[in-house]
Amino acid sequence: MSRRKSFAVLIGLLLVVCLGIAAGAGDDFVIGGTRVKAGRAASGLLAVPGKDGAGTEIPYTVINGAKAGKGLALVAGVHPYEYPPILALYRLKTMIDPKALRGTVLMVHIANLPSFKKRTIYYGPDDWKNLNRVFPGDAGGTMSQRIAAVINKEVVGRSDALLDMHCGDGNEALIPYTYWMISGDKAFDAKTRDLALAFGLPHIIIDETRGRDLKQSKYLGNTAILQGKPAITTEAGFLGRTDEESVALNVRGVLSVLRHLGMIAGAPEPAADPVWIDKYEVVYSKWSGLFTPRAEKGWYVKEGQVVGTVTDYLGVWKEDVKAPFTGILLYVIGTPPCNEGEPLFEVGRVKEK
Ligand SMILES: [Zn+2]
Repeated sequence: MSRRKSFAVLIGLLLVVCLGIAAGAGDDFVIGGTRVKAGRAASGLLAVPGKDGAGTEIPYTVINGAKAGKGLALVAGVHPYEYPPILALYRLKTMIDPKALRGTVLMVHIANLPSFKKRTIYYGPDDWKNLNRVFPGDAGGTMSQRIAAVINKEVVGRSDALLDMHCGDGNEALIPYTYWMISGDKAFDAKTRDLALAFGLPHIIIDETRGRDLKQSKYLGNTAILQGKPAITTEAGFLGRTDEESVALNVRGVLSVLRHLGMIAGAPEPAADPVWIDKYEVVYSKWSGLFTPRAEKGWYVKEGQVVGTVTDYLGVWKEDVKAPFTGILLYVIGTPPCNEGEPLFEVGRVKEK
């Protein structure tokens, strides 16, 4: 055969293989040494190798659809005092039928198990690092960095799209919203916007603040985006609670995204008329002491309005902390401890129509 002819045959063969995958049955999905056949589901524990005697595991479920389709990663428990996303995934695990699914759902039930066990907010108990600030991780680093490295390799690397599911941490009174992280690539950003709309939460933050360097990607969602995987960060739930309304928002959001991606039957239920937030600011404490809120989550606050008061450990007034601009209070700390350099509240400016 001439070189040109053999090249044509090779292309033809590749086309046949590709079309076969697109139209036909799903492939086996192998994760952590476990092979999950198409049309089956399996759960297990991903090992995070130990260092200095301390390793951990990441509980996961793979639902491998009978038919080929997209791979969607659902990650809960990066901050594991944020319970509604975690509880929602256990519910969804029983709701998604692998026989009827197109593509693969890869669930991480509790990304940060050490923090879940010790009931810590923000930080892991082994290294006091925030898992959502250390992506893409380091396989030879501290516990949080090693967890991030395993998630980046086994979860981000294996998916076509990702939902990083959060809510108000144990100390955060928060209204439901989604971060739509802008990459600068219009076609790609249209895909992430559609994911944000499909998840259906009533507020969407247009977030242009995330870094563009994968080595310093910090956040799980941003890490996926910088590797070409559409991703959003969702926030639904508050104050360490397990209320049904918040769990249901997470369940409904995931089902709607699965429909949007053509993975299950039915039409998505996108947010009909979301409030778009085009600027946001987290206000951090200058003091360690106690914080008393003077406004509640979801309130519209005016520039200069007092959102809360900080006192020291003797009860002495230190500061009235004010809104930096007029906007909606996306979250406000709802328990007394406040530490220098930690968040007190987040204000979002509502985009004019
Ligand atoms: Zn979180």
